[in-house]
Order: sequence, then C-alpha cells, then structure tokens
Amino acid sequence: MWLLYYDQSLEEDLMSNKWVYLFDEVTEAEKYVDGDWEKVRALLGGKGANLGDMTRAGVPVPPGFTVTTEACNAYLAAGEQFPPGMWEQELGALRATEAKTGKKFGDPSNPLLVSCRSGAKFSMPGMMDTVLNIGLNDEVVMGMTELTGDERFVYDSYRRLVQMFGSVVMGIADEPFEEILTEARQQAGVESDSDLTAADWKEVTEKFKRLFKAETGRDFPQDPQEQIKLATEAVFKSWNGKRAIDYRNAAKIAHDLGTGVNIQTMVFGNMGNNSATGVAMTRNATTGENHIEGDYLTNAQGEDVVAGIRLTKPIEQLESEMPESYAQFAEICRKLERHYREMQDVEFTVEQGKLWMLQTRDGKRTAQAAVRIAVDMAEDGLITKEQAVLRVTPEQVDFFLHPQFKAESIQAAVDAGEKLATGLNVSPGAAVGQIAFDADLAERWAKEEGKEVIMVRPETRPDDVHGMLAARGIMTSRGGRTSHAALVARQFGTPAVVGVAALDIDLDKREMRVGARVIKEGDWISLDGTVGDVYLGQLETVVPDIDDPYLIKLLSWADEARRLQVWANADYPPDARQARQFGAQGIGLCRTEHMFFEPERLPYVQRMIMHQDEPAVVKESLDTLLPYQREDFAGLFRAMDGLPVIIRLIDPPLHEFLPTQLDLALEVDELQRSGGDTAVLAEKRDQLEAVEKMHEANPMLGLRGVRLGIHLAALTRMQVRAIFEAACQVAKEGVDVQPEVMIPLTSHVNELRVQQSALEEEGKKVMAEQGVTINYKFGTMIEIPRAALTADEMAEYAQFFSYGTNDLTQTTFGISRDDAEKGFLIEYMEKKILPENPFASIDEAGVGKLMEIGVKLGRQTRPEMEIGICGEHGGDPKSVAFCHKIGLNYVSCSPFRVPIARLAAGQIALVEKGVSAK
Ligand code: ADP
Ligand code: MG
Ligand code: MG
Repeated sequence: MWLLYYDQSLEEDLMSNKWVYLFDEVTEAEKYVDGDWEKVRALLGGKGANLGDMTRAGVPVPPGFTVTTEACNAYLAAGEQFPPGMWEQELGALRATEAKTGKKFGDPSNPLLVSCRSGAKFSMPGMMDTVLNIGLNDEVVMGMTELTGDERFVYDSYRRLVQMFGSVVMGIADEPFEEILTEARQQAGVESDSDLTAADWKEVTEKFKRLFKAETGRDFPQDPQEQIKLATEAVFKSWNGKRAIDYRNAAKIAHDLGTGVNIQTMVFGNMGNNSATGVAMTRNATTGENHIEGDYLTNAQGEDVVAGIRLTKPIEQLESEMPESYAQFAEICRKLERHYREMQDVEFTVEQGKLWMLQTRDGKRTAQAAVRIAVDMAEDGLITKEQAVLRVTPEQVDFFLHPQFKAESIQAAVDAGEKLATGLNVSPGAAVGQIAFDADLAERWAKEEGKEVIMVRPETRPDDVHGMLAARGIMTSRGGRTSHAALVARQFGTPAVVGVAALDIDLDKREMRVGARVIKEGDWISLDGTVGDVYLGQLETVVPDIDDPYLIKLLSWADEARRLQVWANADYPPDARQARQFGAQGIGLCRTEHMFFEPERLPYVQRMIMHQDEPAVVKESLDTLLPYQREDFAGLFRAMDGLPVIIRLIDPPLHEFLPTQLDLALEVDELQRSGGDTAVLAEKRDQLEAVEKMHEANPMLGLRGVRLGIHLAALTRMQVRAIFEAACQVAKEGVDVQPEVMIPLTSHVNELRVQQSALEEEGKKVMAEQGVTINYKFGTMIEIPRAALTADEMAEYAQFFSYGTNDLTQTTFGISRDDAEKGFLIEYMEKKILPENPFASIDEAGVGKLMEIGVKLGRQTRPEMEIGICGEHGGDPKSVAFCHKIGLNYVSCSPFRVPIARLAAGQIALVEKGVSAK
C-alpha cells in the first residue's frame, strides 16, 4: 500500500515536471534554477540555453524548443524510457512552434520542417550529429514541391534527411550512402553534387530508402512524429555512447550532466541565390583584431560550410553580395558581443533574403587573441580592466614564452588536409619530429643520429622515460590529463598531446592509421601541445613576442590589482636586466656558488677546499676570489638600481666543486700505470684523499648551507666583504643599492646568532673603511621544518625570511627530489596517492602549513618582517595564489616566469575582492 502510494506520488511528481522549454521560455528556465545562468546551461545545454537567450534578446532565431538534460538523465535512468509527460510536452511544444511559424508538421500543404540538434552543457565532439529536414516524407515532399516549385531543392532535402537519419539515428555506416552518391555523379557525368538534377536526387532518395530498409530491416519512417521521437531518443542514447564517454573521461567532464535536445524550425540557405549559410567569429580568433571573420556559401545548407566540399567565400564578400543581410548580421554580432561581453562564434543562414541566427557561443581563440580581445574590450568599456585581467589565463601568458606554430603554417596544413587529429593538450609548446614508436628507438635516433623525434605510443610506462626525455614531443592514443605520458611531459616541459582517440597504432607494422591514412615510423609530424592538434609534416615554429603591446598593457593592469610583489631569481647581471624588463621588482635569489664554477676561479676554490686547515692557503685563495665576487655583485646592483637584491651565501656541499671520487681514482690509476708526471700524480692523490675524507652518505643533509658557512667562516666572511665592498662602490657611483644577505638552510636560532653576528660585523667594518653607509638586511632561508616551527626565535636575528620551497618540500616529505621525480613520484600521481607533484605546486596541507606557521611566528617577533619565496613554486600560478593568501610580500621566480607570476598575483587579488571574469 505504502509502496503504491509512494510510486504514485513519484509519478505525479514526474508528470508535473517541466521537461521541455520553448526557446522563448528561457526566463522560466532561469527561474526554475534560481537565476543562475550556469545552471540554465546545465539544464538546457549550452546550445539550447543560448538559442533561448538570443530569442529573448530579440535576435531572429528560428522558433523551436529544448528537451532538458534532466529528461535525458531520467530517460537513461529508467532504462531508456521517456519520463512520464515528456513526450506529451514535446508534442505540445511542437504545436506551439507550428503556431509561431504558421506551418504544420507533416502537413503537405504547408509543412513545418525541423532539425534535431544535441547540446550538452559543455560542447562535446563525441555527441550526436545534427539531423536536418525532419518532417519530410513521400507526401510532404510532393506538397513542398508544389509550394516551392523547386523539385530539385525538395529532393535534395529529402535525400539528406534519409541519409542523416539513417546514419545518425539508425547507425548505418556512411560509406554505402557515399557510394550511391558517387554512382549518381558518375551516371550523370558530373563532378559536383550541385550539378545533379531533380531527377537525379529523386533516384538517389529512392536508393537511400532501399539502403535504409536493407540495413535496418524497416522502412524509412513516414510518420514525422515518429521521426522526432526516434531522433530524440538517439540524442539521449548518444550521451552514453563510447565516443562520448571516452571524451568525458579524457576532458574530465562529469558523466551525470546529460544532454539537451533542440528541435528547431528549419531555415534554408539553399533556396536559390538570395540564400546563404555561414559561420563566423565576431573577432579575429588568431590575432584578436576587432573585425568579423568567417566563411559562407551562397545557396547551401549549414553543414556544407564546415564539411569543406565547396570552396567557401570570406564573410566580407557577403557585404557586397547581400548588403542588407550583412548589415543586419554585423549589427547582431555587435549586439551579441555586448550581451555576452565575449567574442562570439556564430552560425547563420539567410533564407531568401531573411537572416536567421542558428547558434552563438564564446569563441575559441589563440593566446594572442585572448590577450588582445580582453584589452580591447576593456578599453571599449565592454568589461572592466579587472575583468580583462581575469580573462587571460597564466598558461596564455606562458604561450608568449614558448615556440609555437606559425598561424599561416597551421592554416596551410589545414587547407592541405594535413591536420590529422586532436587530442588532449597536456603540455604546451610546439614540437616537430620524426615518429618513433618505442623509447629505445626514440633515444637512439635522438642521441646517436641527431634526429628530431616525436615519440608515439598507445600509452607510456615508467620504462619509456628515457625515450620521452630524448624526444621533442610525445603523443599517445590513450590516456588522460593525469596519464603517465602527461605527467612526465609536463615535468620536463616537453610538448605533448595524449588521448588522441583517432589514432590507431600498429606497433607490429610500425605504423599508425588515422582514418584511411597510414603513417609510417620515421614520417614527420608536428604536435601542438598548447591546443592538442596533430599535423602531418613539418610546420614552421616561431617564438611569440613577449613585448606584445596588448600583453604589456594587460600585465600593467594586473600590477595595479596585485598586492604581492614579483621578484626574480637571477645570478648574473644579464639575467637581472632581463628580469627587470619583464617587470621584476627585486632579486629574490642570487646563488653565489655558480660564480665559483667559472674556469679562472675554480682552481682557487678547489685549493681552498683541499687546504681548509691551512689558513695561509685559504687566505690566499679567498683574496684571489674576492675581486671576482665583488665585480659580480657590483654588476647585479647596478642592474637592479633602486631595487632590493638578495644574495645567498654559499650553500652546496663542497664535494660539488671537486671531481668525483670515481674520476679521481681512475686518473690516479691511469697515471700510475702509464708512469705519468709525478707532480700531477701527487696532486691527484691529494685530491682523492680529500674527496674521500669529505665523503658523506647524504650530502644534501650534510655539511652545507649555514653549517658550511660556520665551518668555513673565512669563506662566508669573504663573500660578505665582497657584497659590502661592491655595495659601497656602486653607492659612490650614485646607484641606489639595497643588498640583503641571505643565510641558507638554518634550523636553529643559534646558527644565526653565531653566523649573522660575525658577518654583520664584517659588513660594518667594510662600510667604515669605505666611509659609506648603505641600507642592508641580514636574513635567512626557511627550508627546514624546524626553522619554520621556531620562526619566532629565528626572527630575533633574521630581518627577512625567504622560503626555499624546493628544499622545504624535500625536508617536509623526507624525499629526495631527484630520486622521486625519476621514480616513484610519477607512480604516486598515477595512483592518486599524491594529487600533484609537490615540487611543481606547493603542497598546501603540509609544506604550506609550515609556511603559514613561519609567517605568523616570524611577524609575531618582527611585525614588519619582509617574507618571500624563492623556490621554483614562485612561478607557479596556484602557488602564487597561496603565497598571496598567507600574506607573503613577494614571490621570486625565474625571469621567464615573472610575467606569469604578475598575472597570477593580480588575479588572486581580484578574486579575493570578489571580481569575476564574466
Ligand atoms: P554542430 O554542433 O556540429 O555545429 P549544429 O546543431 O550546430 O551542430 O548543426 C550543424 C549544422 O546544421 C550547422 O551549420 C547549423 O547551422 C545547421 N542547422 C542546424 N539546425 C538548423 C536549422 N533549424 N535550420 C538550418 N540549419 C540548421
Ligand atoms: Mg554548430
Ligand atoms: Mg635550498
């Protein structure tokens, strides 16, 4: 009893549900979802929502209606049964559409024809193709012929319906249809479909119907309502088709969204020479220039334009061919842009002089276009500058820094039919190379034969990494954004496209097929990891212009918005100048040890290390090194005139400056056997002995950083002297110098007490000698958990903190980065044990928590304390946002990441303010 009651109420509930919305009922749909436009898009699908929205805005849209995604989900959940009431509502909406058009569905004397178009919230290539001309049958065809007096047009439409219905709804293969068409052209002795006559089309239609029956075991449905019903069901079912599921898995789209079905009055671009159809972008999608760009065909139907069977005309020509329609079209484009405040991608049809809009959506664009459009729209007052900043992604800024394919080269490849396929764009940049189907070959070709290689595999595994590293680019036919191939590619900055479903790789035959095309190992291909496209042959690459005036303007707006400063890591004056040009506001990390490796200095460094216990030798070596270091720093200070420069004292373990134990042992052995120079042999023996003595089991956790600085006090004192002498010197030249001396790898306040006090004394001594006073700071890196946890104590000495998040991540996780990234880390990410690589993006829950504690404790002792980050995370947009949130003063990253960090810092400040991109 209870069950029965329950079922009934559920039934009533479903009956009263609104499953179908007319295009002019979009306001109702909006009310149903509480006014949230994203939810309207989820309910009606993107296509349906925008058709409704355009209708509401007074844009001419052929009348019709949308069956909701909820109906789709209910249909699938019920084992492919329409939910109660849905079909009746669909018929009701059809009657309303008849009333609007003054035509009747299935009425030969005045027939209404419709299209059936799928449309989910996100556009999905896996979904069902559109069926046009629904409503035609043997009878209606006769009536329409009488009405239009154009038998050719009518049978052309009918045969299209039988073919589309047959292939899309009933699943008949396209080839037999195409064979019939080819045969018809041959019989008639013509090249192109447009030369076929009414009689030809009539015959083709008959043959199509016979094919339909042979393939499906039933006649082509003559009942127009049944046509709609079957088409609606086919759209619903296509949601769970293999293509769609694969695409959703790859693109991370939820499986429970469902698709909408749009039934829309047909308009005909093929009703003579005052009819046309086309597609356009409201702005140039490659450059962003503010003019309409598109293609059209006179006397044709929509799919002809995209199918490429006839040569299309540029949209400007429409202006002279149909000036009135064009003027109206241009006005609608402007209106749509103002309405959506976004560049639009539109479809239109002109039917005997009357313009109709069939689709609008936000247009896809290149990174350059995205930047220019955002800036132009802000300057035209369509959006605010703040919104413009939010509309460009850090990846798009990154685009300006990587090689890319030339737009003309892409166009030429597309025109030549050499675009092979599209997959997931998992690692940006362009790559050109010869296909190698396994890792060993890829490595051999690249290393031994100097070839440029693209490694192509169904998917990759850990033992493929050597080949992937040697390759210019990576492509796989399977796998998603977190597949092994994607992770490795991003890790090493190798352009990659994965999940290229259209690829059929035959490893035995050493070839791959895309459709009918066979591509052999060794053939050239070009991968666009920025968008995911794959081309046959060698496309030309360019590095886009980082001085693009639109980018410069956009970044200046990001600068206005951000609170976080952006500094750069730079060791040499040219890097510093570069960084400054990119907008860096300081140097957050200068690694002094790099300078020790230069050939004229390294022998002195080695001598000093070898004779650590002999003060005279140490002094002599340091005296030689001092002027070099002074010059290095002076150059850096001059380059950064007016901005802070953080110089880190020596950090790495000393063995890094010496030859390896193995090399030395071999050399000694060789010298002994060959009876070489005894003096050299003695020196090598000494070195070997020293290296053996210095051997540490875990050098990264051994004598390095401040420990080394304390141990080799004379060395750090020399460095500080060099810094202060350089500073005094350039100050005398009139440079505004702001040196900050950074002590690395501290873990206990006493280390700072000992080291910093001694060094500061040295600095003061130099200033006294030079008779110059400069502004300086002493501070420390925080890269060991203990330092963060005792930041209040550290801050008693340190005047600034800088998070060394590379080491801090290693020491917090207790893993060594080099070992991890080559080995288990990829496996961890594949198995989702770690959501992402903590060396790429700050692990907020662990490392981040330590950072937060450090900030809080540090400022407890020293409220105005300057705190920044100088690990590689400083250039990662997500980590930049985190640094903003915990109140750092700056992020410091490599010069080439500075523009990205500026944008990311601006964006997080705006998001925090509640600004949204739309
Ligand atoms: P897609 O998502 O693949 O673009 P569409 O549903 O937009 O599929 O339709 C494919 C083509 O058919 C487009 O050119 C579109 O403009 C055209 N089309 C769809 N419905 C109609 C219609 N009712 N009248 C005229 N052309 C239509
Ligand atoms: Mg479309
Ligand atoms: Mg470090």
